[in-house]
Amino acid sequence: MIAETTMERDDFKRCERFHGHVCPGLAIGYQASKAALAWLEENRSVDEEIVAIVENDACCVDAIQVLTGCTFGKGNFIFKDHGKMVFTFFSRNTGKGVRISMKPGVLEPDERHRQLIEKVRENKATDQDRDEFAQLHQQRTKDILNKSLESLFKMEITTVELPPKARMEPSAICQLCGEPTMPSKLELVDDKMICRDCL
Ligand SMILES: [Zn+2]
Ligand SMILES: [Zn+2]
Repeated sequence: MIAETTMERDDFKRCERFHGHVCPGLAIGYQASKAALAWLEENRSVDEEIVAIVENDACCVDAIQVLTGCTFGKGNFIFKDHGKMVFTFFSRNTGKGVRISMKPGVLEPDERHRQLIEKVRENKATDQDRDEFAQLHQQRTKDILNKSLESLFKMEITTVELPPKARMEPSAICQLCGEPTMPSKLELVDDKMICRDCL
């Protein structure tokens, strides 16, 4: 089976280690990254060759950070809180971009899975329920890894204006808490430059 082989691959293991567990969401992120990298004909970006815009902050985005090299800390990983399984990637080298959106129904749990999720959430799950839940979870992960990229995602070429590269600026002191802060993030209130925490 494709899924078993994939789960033994070094790149999948790296996602698992970073994320902490294997789950259907991680599998989605793995597949979306594969789709993106194939599209962009690029390898892992060392610095900022690729920019990712993700429209959710669920399990899947961890795989995307590991595999594409777009990370939160480098500033080439942008989160938009839209609650959608949509991932847009741009290559700074070629200027090509791709918008990858999950097709409807791909991650929808079936009735039994839904019941179990509810039971686990409400702490009413028996040991047997938990085993079944873990098994279903595992099965769904494998289902996603076995699916073709085309059946999981809609992919379209897109052009979005690239965000500016991460800027370095010397800190200024917030005049309320005294903590060093990026000057562009300070706001003038009652003649004092204060940080957003203090605002
Ligand atoms: Zn997860
Ligand atoms: Zn402050």
